[in-house]
Amino acid sequence: MTNLIDGRAIAEKVYVDLRRDIAELKARGVAPGLAVILVGDNPASRTYVRSKDKMCRDLGLHSVKLELPATTTQSELLARVKEFNRDPAIHGILVQSPPPKQIDEAAIVRALDPGKDVDGFHPENVAKLALGDPTGLVPCTPLGCHRLLVESEIDISGAQVVILGRSMIVGKPLALLLMQKGIDATVTIAHSRTRNLGEITRSADIIVAAIGRAEFLRADHVRDGVVVIDVGINRVDDPANERGYRLVGDVAFSEVAPKARAITPVPGGVGPMTIAMLMSNTVKAAKQASKERRLGQPPTST
Ligand code: NAP
Repeated sequence: MTNLIDGRAIAEKVYVDLRRDIAELKARGVAPGLAVILVGDNPASRTYVRSKDKMCRDLGLHSVKLELPATTTQSELLARVKEFNRDPAIHGILVQSPPPKQIDEAAIVRALDPGKDVDGFHPENVAKLALGDPTGLVPCTPLGCHRLLVESEIDISGAQVVILGRSMIVGKPLALLLMQKGIDATVTIAHSRTRNLGEITRSADIIVAAIGRAEFLRADHVRDGVVVIDVGINRVDDPANERGYRLVGDVAFSEVAPKARAITPVPGGVGPMTIAMLMSNTVKAAKQASKERRLGQPPTST
């Protein structure tokens, strides 16, 4: 019988723990702070930024939302990032993706203080994930996928995990996370050039789909008893819906769910966990910064 993995309910559990951590930090005079920079007026990005800001406020985090015009230059954006790097009230910085085309996103990520890089995209944090250094900040969506599995009591150790997609946001960091000692999955990554995909996915105990192709994973791709984490968010036309579209994942849910031991819905699965893990990374960054300050260590970068 299929067990639905409820991302909203699991995110609420994360928030219970975070509220306690935030209260402890505040009692020591530290209010964790997140700065979110939005360049331009992409409507989807604006919605994401608004929900991040709202969640910060709900949790009692210090939240700064900086909205810059679409004409912002690389050097103007770099200057703003450096200001937040120096600001002791800000522990996490996020530049909402995608920025306008004149912005070199990779250079912006490299300019972030790695200790404040709550997206976990800075090369130092990527290296720490590869090295298994727990002081690193890990990208939010992979962290959310892992937490969903843990909270659902899915046995990851020794499991065959097949990840569809090799992006630096989801597939690659998730593979690095799940293969770490102590988590101990046997990980295979598939991508657009993978041959015999069905053979690979049918061998999986756990499948994570992160490719951005609506309802790509079908019933004949999976074996009975599989656990499926669907990261995809795709819009498909739906005249019956008042918005004219509906959101679906990378998994054909109605076909795959009857074969699955456990599966995430879209929406309401990975999405709520991504934002919960952003809040969690901000609190982790604040804890680490306050510990460094107590020990009299210099910040990780200038
Ligand atoms: P991306 O950067 O476009 O990467 C897509 C990956 O999928 C690539 O590695 C690509 O392979 C692979 N791929 C494409 N078609 C494939 C196929 N037919 N078979 C196997 N692999 C295939 O995407 P992303 O940023 O990782 O995002 C993936 C999806 O997750 C999107 O729907 C996105 O909206 C969603 N997402 C959701 C959340 C959330 O919070 N729920 C967060 C992030 C992303 P190549 O490398 O060979 O091109």
